Amino acid sequence: MTARILVVDDIEANRDLLETRLTAEYFNVITASDGQEALKICTETSVDLVLLDIMMPGIDGFEVCEQLKANAATCHIPVVIVTALDEMADRVRGLQAGADDFLTKPVDEMQLLARVRSLLRLKMLTDELRLRAVTARDIGLDTLLSDKDDDSGAKPKVMVVDERSSSFERLVKPLRKNFEIVHAGEPQGAVMTAAEGDFDCVFVAARFTEFDALRICSQLRSLDRTRFVPIILVAETDDDNLVKRGLELGVNDYIVRPVDPNELTARLRTQVRRKRYHDSLRDNVAASIELAVTDGLTGLHNRRYLDTHLETLVARGLNRGKQLSLLITDIDRFKDVNDTHGHDAGDDVLREFARRLRVNVRGMDLACRYGGEEFVIVMPDTPPHIAAEVAERLRAQIESDDFSIENGARTIEVTVSVGVTSLIQSENETAKALLKRADEALYEAKQTGRNRVVSRAA
Ligand code: GH3
Ligand code: MG
Ligand code: MG
Repeated sequence: MTARILVVDDIEANRDLLETRLTAEYFNVITASDGQEALKICTETSVDLVLLDIMMPGIDGFEVCEQLKANAATCHIPVVIVTALDEMADRVRGLQAGADDFLTKPVDEMQLLARVRSLLRLKMLTDELRLRAVTARDIGLDTLLSDKDDDSGAKPKVMVVDERSSSFERLVKPLRKNFEIVHAGEPQGAVMTAAEGDFDCVFVAARFTEFDALRICSQLRSLDRTRFVPIILVAETDDDNLVKRGLELGVNDYIVRPVDPNELTARLRTQVRRKRYHDSLRDNVAASIELAVTDGLTGLHNRRYLDTHLETLVARGLNRGKQLSLLITDIDRFKDVNDTHGHDAGDDVLREFARRLRVNVRGMDLACRYGGEEFVIVMPDTPPHIAAEVAERLRAQIESDDFSIENGARTIEVTVSVGVTSLIQSENETAKALLKRADEALYEAKQTGRNRVVSRAA
């Protein structure tokens, strides 16, 4: 889907100019001729970015920006303020109003597209995160995810690659207070330094006496450890071609010397936020995947994981004519543990049982909590007689060492029944059939006295 950009300006010619340029890049452009109309569009429709003029009759651009940023429904929409050239005071006020970036009139085409693309990339990430937060809430993971606060924690770490110390100093002076700065004066060493440190952004000066700045950018993009680090190119006024090639190479943004400190900070913030959202998005995905397939009490895989994974293992075993065994365990008279010693003691037994399972299986075996006090172990490349031995060893181990409950104040005897079966190389074989046979074997173990292993061949 193409991004939807709102252009706000009271002068029709200005609106038309921006609309034409953005439409040519296949953005979906809508326009508003005053602040009131802009606010209405933003609250009632979905907007991905706002280009906002300052001087307008009625409510001006600053106020529009303030209102957008104060409203929870619109505060995530990036706002680019379009100011007259060299209006430094306007930029400071724009930042205070919450603007994400600036453009000066007359708007330069390359700057326009670089800013718009950079902010839209950030917007896509935040949308994805917000969406995930909503889904997470649906399945009860929101408390977990809410711990991740993008603004918390250490100062962002920024590397600056610039061989001239004087221009480096000028650039970083306004940043020192809020960012941790690392200087790389040597272009060759810079990529290594970037790969070793976990940087939130890298500035690359466009000009080196004997080195191509774009080579550094392309190396940063190709290394695994720096692939996602934001890059901002620091260009001179007549570096247009170089900047254009840089943007094509995956440079995220650029800034032209002499650098306006406000602009520099705003642009750096955008990149750092993007990097952090990106990182936390990846962490969140990993965490929700982890949570969705893990049993909370024992830390073993859960039934959902087994159900999806067993199919794969069975298919692989059949395709390659490999052995595969499965055992299912059920703690004997577990209800009595709960009834006599309480539910917490029952939980202690389950945790300890899971721990013993884990140490009794190989790394390639899959141990999971199948439900209540039932556990399943899947053992690839394992013939029936070995599976029976594993089951017997486990049974004996559970019986021989008592379980401690009530924080070690007391111990109780626990026994387990086990059903074992193995893969049959037949067209009718399925994960479901395998589990069913193991369950029948378990049932037989219970019927014939408990605390025993029963194997079922077919
Ligand atoms: P059997 O030897 O026939 O297996 O007897 P049993 O008492 O173990 O069998 P039953 O299936 O009737 O009881 C299982 C009990 O496991 C009932 C349930 O309350 C308890 N249980 C299931 N999940 C948990 C849990 O997470 N924690 C605790 N403490 N108990 C659980
Ligand atoms: Mg049971
Ligand atoms: Mg039981």
